[in-house]
Parts: sequence; structure tokens; C-alpha cells
Amino acid sequence: MITNTTQRFWGALLSFSALLWRDRRTRSWLIGPLILLVAGFFIPQKMIIPVKGASTINWDIKSFWAYPWGSSITHKGIDIFDERGTDVISATHGVVVYTHEGGKGGKSVMILGPKWRFHYYAHLDSYDAVAFQPVRRGTVIGTVGDTGNATGKPPHLHYAITSPFPYFWLFDSEAVHGWKKMFHLNPDTWLRP
Ligand SMILES: [Zn+2]
Repeated sequence: MITNTTQRFWGALLSFSALLWRDRRTRSWLIGPLILLVAGFFIPQKMIIPVKGASTINWDIKSFWAYPWGSSITHKGIDIFDERGTDVISATHGVVVYTHEGGKGGKSVMILGPKWRFHYYAHLDSYDAVAFQPVRRGTVIGTVGDTGNATGKPPHLHYAITSPFPYFWLFDSEAVHGWKKMFHLNPDTWLRP
């Protein structure tokens, strides 16, 4: 699977559906999650740059899918540079899925936004969010830092978007790991006016 989050998403979706399917009396209830799933795709996604005060000059347009990129092979997000301690804000409305500390991302926050897209905010100096917390576009969720494998590098926000549902038209036969582009979306697409 693409990421732990997409794996857990599919695990939860399939096991819940199987649970309803198992009993003939609850089988018709499957329409519930199905409607929810479809409805999610109709929630409009308006996005803002997730670092307060930052503009398009704060990241390199070529940073998405940059290669080679250490143990990640390709860089599946964009790096928005700013001073340590600058507010990191949610790019969309959504719900906090988890906060995490450790690993490559250091202090990080995952938010589920419209269209079942997972928004990942990493290398934070600190975070200010809890799982299941609803957030609005612009809600402060942490501050820019250099935690995880960004330690010692200029502070920046690693911002990435993944979808558990493949976008087949984004398949890239030229790029390294090009098939993964069906699941890792380029945030730049929605942040450039
Ligand atoms: Zn990065």
C-alpha cells in the first residue's frame, strides 16, 4: 500500500463494510457508508498556503517528485520554507486524524480534508492539534520547524497530500515511481493562484 494512512483507511472501510455485509439484516445499511463516501467527493476543496504569511516564492515548484531524495527515493510533497516558529495553518477544512512525533517527519499532523484527501504537515517545531479535532481552513495546527530528518536543515514545512483512491489520469510512465503519482497529489496544483 501507498502509505500507512491509506492502508488504515482501506482497512477500516473494508472491515466495516464486511461487518454490515455479514448479517443479512444489516446488509442494506451498506448504503450509509456508500453515501458518505460519495458525498465526501462533493465537498468543495478550497485551499490556502499552510504557512501563515507565506507565498508561492516560499517553495520551489520543482520540489514535488524531486529525485533522488534519500530513502524516500522521490520527494512526495513540497517544502515551504519560513522562519522557525511561524504558524502552520490547515490548508483546508477537515478533521485531525493523528499527531505523531518521531521518524522521518518528526513532529507531524495528519488531517483528512474534502474528497478523502489526507493532508500531511511535517517537521513541525511544535503542534497544536489532537486526533478527531475538527479544523477550519486557517486553523493554527503548529509551527514551522526542522524536526525529523530535516534536523539541521533550514526550517520548513513538508506538506503532502495523499488519496486512498487512485487518480488514474495522473499515472506518469516517465517519472521514477510514476505510478505512485496516482496517490500522491501535488499541493502546488491548488496553491498557485
Ligand atoms: Zn519535504
